[in-house]
Amino acid sequence: MTYPADTTGTPAARRPRVVILGGGFAGLTAARTLRRAPVEITLIDRTNHHLFQPLLYQVATAALDPSDITAPIRFLLRRQENATVLLARVESVDTGRRLVHLDTGMERDGKAPPKRSLPYDFLIVATGARHAYFGHEEWEPLAPGLKSLEDAIEIRRRFLLAFEHAEMALDPDEEQEHLTFVVVGGGPTGVELAGVLPQIARRTLRRDFRHIDPARARVLLLEGGERVLPAFPPEISARARRDLEALGVEVRTRCLVTRIEPDAVYAGEERIPARTVFWGAGNQASPLGRTLGVPVDRAGRVPVEDDLSIPGHPRCSWWGTLPP
Ligand SMILES: Cc1cc2nc3c(=O)[nH]c(=O)nc-3n(C[C@H](O)[C@H](O)[C@H](O)COP(=O)(O)OP(=O)(O)OC[C@H]3O[C@@H](n4cnc5c(N)ncnc54)[C@H](O)[C@@H]3O)c2cc1C
Repeated sequence: MTYPADTTGTPAARRPRVVILGGGFAGLTAARTLRRAPVEITLIDRTNHHLFQPLLYQVATAALDPSDITAPIRFLLRRQENATVLLARVESVDTGRRLVHLDTGMERDGKAPPKRSLPYDFLIVATGARHAYFGHEEWEPLAPGLKSLEDAIEIRRRFLLAFEHAEMALDPDEEQEHLTFVVVGGGPTGVELAGVLPQIARRTLRRDFRHIDPARARVLLLEGGERVLPAFPPEISARARRDLEALGVEVRTRCLVTRIEPDAVYAGEERIPARTVFWGAGNQASPLGRTLGVPVDRAGRVPVEDDLSIPGHPRCSWWGTLPP
């Protein structure tokens, strides 16, 4: 691969600075693709690890450990001499002055961390996606989603604690409330999570309790649309539904969640007593897109040119992977 001479203002004496935001699949791929390019790469991530998101649900259900699905970004790029890794949260991008504003999180003398800005010649924004609660942000603490390692550990904590609370319940109704798990959203994350919960309850935890039978765990998957896995062909959705039901999951479609409370989920008017709710119903693009100074769509996605650059800013590109 050859790289065109820089004709847009980088002093000839130094190599162009490529700043990559995010060390997920996209950011790492960008960095590695540029390993032989005559550029200075700085990859910035708010965590020190690359995360294999497809196996998050295994960590969430205690089937895998966090270290099984993560690797330090620094380690992954240690042999790539043109790459530097920084741990910082990117707060915003100034496309006009070609600056990335950072929060390093590092206190000095007990004072708030000084703000830092990093200049770039070329920028790749690859900061992924996060959950969308469709205007009900107050549901987030009651129904965590699954995107990061912290999310998976929190889901694992709630899932395992539910059995502990059920074991100590004072009456059968309270016990069943603790043993009822609701997964909201029948996309891939919701389907995977709902499918694995009954297996853990019925197999892994089967002999671990004296007062409760973990196999009595009730798992509901609530999907607002016509079918689960709506982005896949109908026959895949039908097969997924059959398989989930065979695993003991109660699948409800055309079922809109209208309220979530600490001890119940409302599906329309119906109150479903449940203390543990997980969210897999919506995605939105990284909020950084909104700082780029270009129009974004309702999900926060940035429209891009054929080469992924953002309109009017050929040196800045957006590598979003949000599903349609
Ligand atoms: C539970 C789950 C299961 C999945 N299963 C599959 C599957 O089976 N097959 C499949 O193809 N895809 C699957 N996906 C989707 C796939 O994982 C994503 O499409 C992919 O991870 C997106 O890569 P990315 O690099 O764009 O973003 P991410 O992997 O999300 O990486 C973004 C990076 O940016 C960092 N970051 C974000 N904001 C900031 C900031 N402000 N400052 C600094 N750093 C920041 C994050 O820490 C992260 O490291 C799954 C996703 C999930 C959540």
